[in-house]
Amino acid sequence: MNLILETEEHTQLRSAVAALGRRHGRGCDPEALWTEAAKLGYLGVNLPEEHGGGGGGIAELSIVLEELGAAGCPLLMMIVSPAICGTVIARFGTEEQRRTWLPGLADGSRTMAFGITEPDAGSNSHRITTTARRADDGGWVLTGRKVFISGVDIADATLVVGRTEDARTGKLKACLFIVPRETPGFTRSRIDMELHAHEKQFELVLDEVRLPADALVGDEDAGLLQLFAGLNPERIMTAAFAIGMGRYALDRALEYARDRQVWQTPIGAHQAIAHPLAQAHIELELARLMMQKAAALYDAGDDVAAGEAANMAKYAAGEACVKAVDQAVHTLGGNGLTREYGLASLVTAARVSRIAPVSREMILNYVSHQTLGLPKSY
Ligand SMILES: Cc1cc2nc3c(=O)[nH]c(=O)nc-3n(C[C@H](O)[C@H](O)[C@H](O)COP(=O)(O)OP(=O)(O)OC[C@H]3O[C@@H](n4cnc5c(N)ncnc54)[C@H](O)[C@@H]3O)c2cc1C
Repeated sequence: MNLILETEEHTQLRSAVAALGRRHGRGCDPEALWTEAAKLGYLGVNLPEEHGGGGGGIAELSIVLEELGAAGCPLLMMIVSPAICGTVIARFGTEEQRRTWLPGLADGSRTMAFGITEPDAGSNSHRITTTARRADDGGWVLTGRKVFISGVDIADATLVVGRTEDARTGKLKACLFIVPRETPGFTRSRIDMELHAHEKQFELVLDEVRLPADALVGDEDAGLLQLFAGLNPERIMTAAFAIGMGRYALDRALEYARDRQVWQTPIGAHQAIAHPLAQAHIELELARLMMQKAAALYDAGDDVAAGEAANMAKYAAGEACVKAVDQAVHTLGGNGLTREYGLASLVTAARVSRIAPVSREMILNYVSHQTLGLPKSY
């Protein structure tokens, strides 16, 4: 038992979720899994107890996602619904918003998507132009475009990052708005992705979308602070997603390498096959260590230190996942590319963890500037 890294409860949670994952397995019905995981309290494990959650943190939620991924059935919406949106509403929402949203997010009966990426801003989220202005009735009017937003069709609402004008400085500042799926003027079109996943990506148009005053989450003046409270869990959860997928791929490769024999020994006896798999395992374990550090810092309330660790964990996990999947596919030879073995589709899926929610280059930029104090080129 690793007393320092994970408590006894964490270990029990891991094995209980792993058992659930095994019952569902790869190719399972994600909606059925979502419902069952929610019923068992896993989806809301990080949300406050008084609003129907488990009272834990991102450490627990990341264990759930990693183990479901390792069983071949990751739930992408866990990254956005309980981790980003649930966290932001729990930490910065009004009492009314907490009462309205958290019980549903915790028991899985309601889901929320999260939209920050814009076509003309991309990695540079300081450039987003989705703008909210005050309406005469005290509400808001939101206008802008978003791209690559996951799960908007299955989510009851999307937490949209927009900007409002600061009355004193005239500058635009980041603000978060809850936009229910069927709000007039809020339209979505599906992006044709090369991904085999239940959760689809959408381009969104917000054309003079009228929202009530209480659509704004948190303080209008808190700006980036609130946003990062949600983005750090997103990075930690993406690390969990990537580590889970990497472990799944590695396990399939190990099963194959133990059995498959074309000379006198199983292929796993050849070091050219064994060593890269050993490396993949080491790198996934290292990534998990950084993820645990990031989650522990975040749950302890140290947002700044958590920011650095969450970025590093997401980077390490994305790289480890891409390498593990690549090596797993290679280990299976021709079978690595068949539908039957189901690994080829992971080649594309693994790349997502390198690109989203923040690309590997932007993390390298962050570490260069913030951690190492090097000058910026952009
Ligand atoms: C499957 C999937 C699901 C997603 N789900 C969501 C979601 O639910 N909500 C949401 O808001 N977004 C979502 N995204 C969007 C994702 O967060 C963005 O794709 C990501 O932030 C990168 O932005 P971009 O695609 O515009 O790339 P760009 O910003 O155009 O970057 C293109 C390339 O240039 C590099 N680059 C850019 N600037 C620099 C620089 N200064 N230095 C070095 N290299 C640089 C990048 O690293 C990248 O390799 C999703 C994306 C995918 C693929």
